[in-house]
Amino acid sequence: MLHTKIICTIGPASDSPEVLENLADAGMNVARLNFSHGTHDSHRNIVEKIRLLNTNREFPVAILLDTKGPEIRTGDQHMKLITGTQVRVVSDPELKDERHLFVDYPHLTEQLGQGNHILLDSGLVKLEILENHGDSLACRVLDGGTITPKRHVNLPGISVKLPGITLSDRKDLEFALEENVDVVALSFLRNRDTVLEVREMFRERGEQIKLIAKIENQEGVDNLEEIIQVTDGIMVARGDLGIEIDMEELPQIQRKIAYLCAKYGKRLIVATQMLESMMENPVPTRAEITDIANAVFEQSDAIMLSGETSTGKYPVRCVETLVRIARRTEVHPGVQFTENLIQEDGPEENQGKGRQMLAAAATKIARQLKVPGMLVITRKGRGATKMANLRVRGIPIFAFTESEKTISTLMLLRGVYPYLLKFDEDPELTIQNALRLLKKKQDMPSGISIVVVADIMTGEGYVNCLQVRTLPED
Ligand code: PEP
Repeated sequence: MLHTKIICTIGPASDSPEVLENLADAGMNVARLNFSHGTHDSHRNIVEKIRLLNTNREFPVAILLDTKGPEIRTGDQHMKLITGTQVRVVSDPELKDERHLFVDYPHLTEQLGQGNHILLDSGLVKLEILENHGDSLACRVLDGGTITPKRHVNLPGISVKLPGITLSDRKDLEFALEENVDVVALSFLRNRDTVLEVREMFRERGEQIKLIAKIENQEGVDNLEEIIQVTDGIMVARGDLGIEIDMEELPQIQRKIAYLCAKYGKRLIVATQMLESMMENPVPTRAEITDIANAVFEQSDAIMLSGETSTGKYPVRCVETLVRIARRTEVHPGVQFTENLIQEDGPEENQGKGRQMLAAAATKIARQLKVPGMLVITRKGRGATKMANLRVRGIPIFAFTESEKTISTLMLLRGVYPYLLKFDEDPELTIQNALRLLKKKQDMPSGISIVVVADIMTGEGYVNCLQVRTLPED
């Protein structure tokens, strides 16, 4: 079974029931709804199609809502910017005309000055500021191009004064609650407070939606370690990150994030341009193949497709390509970041630490016995997460839970395959039922060993324990 999970962004190229089904058959585990585009109605429509698709699949496709975040854009102007010429940039809409480009950031002239850069249209057009005139910025066009309405604006190195969650994000988070999505990715996440605020908002409503911090600018990178400790995972959002910081910094930042995700037992998602050339072409470049393999070697929980599946020509082929590369790569050892780190520096609370160590022991035994899988009985998914944190090669984790919600949130975890099971009051009967179900679902022979992490009943109540069991006859 493939351990690396695949996230597909859904858009016009993939939002029909047929393509969604083909994507799921090809290996999509999580569908991403990008709230930078579309309306609540269009997203709701996709959610309904995925829920319908899930009614007859062995493993569901989870739903990830990606917020728009505090972003800056140009206005409604069309403007041709020629390399070497000059242009004025303004943030007052009254001042815009054919020589003054409007950017919707009110603190523009207050925060930027000579030597700063403004990047437009996802970095394709680059301006250098020559002079701050108070109400406008005189800029030289370093890389020209044509600006069409509502283009993306990046201000590298500037700590923008925008709220962590915008008004429009709040409405989208409300949508996440209403539609009960599985994961929310917070765009342009800059500090831990935003994560805590969203977490609290969800908690008040009794929801446990997983939170992923998208690291896409210098502030996010600077605050990485504080962010990672309060989030469920990190997305290396290489699209914006590669614009906001010097592009040559990307590989080492990705590697550092992989290391910290292993250290703190958090999910790692590597995103953007993984198969960019396949937007147009049926085969990837050799560099893309190696980039995907690198993300697998770095023990990503999931790798993500954006335009490739939302608007590209070959959405299903892209997923098939990811699967082929990931499958071949997973056979080989990657980075060994989890070997000792989690045991030493893992989650702070003692109980969590104890469970993490139990999971580490389980995976060690599983490796030595060369079992075909590990079985974990998990209510909210915490036990399965502790096992996934070890990122063990070649041994899938079969998680049994009573909660459908837990099932879909576990779809994001590397190597975890969840099944629904009604728990018995007697934990031993639950284990027996899970072993029976596993044997049937995975078509495994009787008598083989399986490493089990589950509760048992003791004089002190339920206690987590580690066992080596054999699959039953019937
Ligand atoms: C990115 O910038 O890499 C990213 C994933 O974010 P978005 O697609 O929302 O720009």
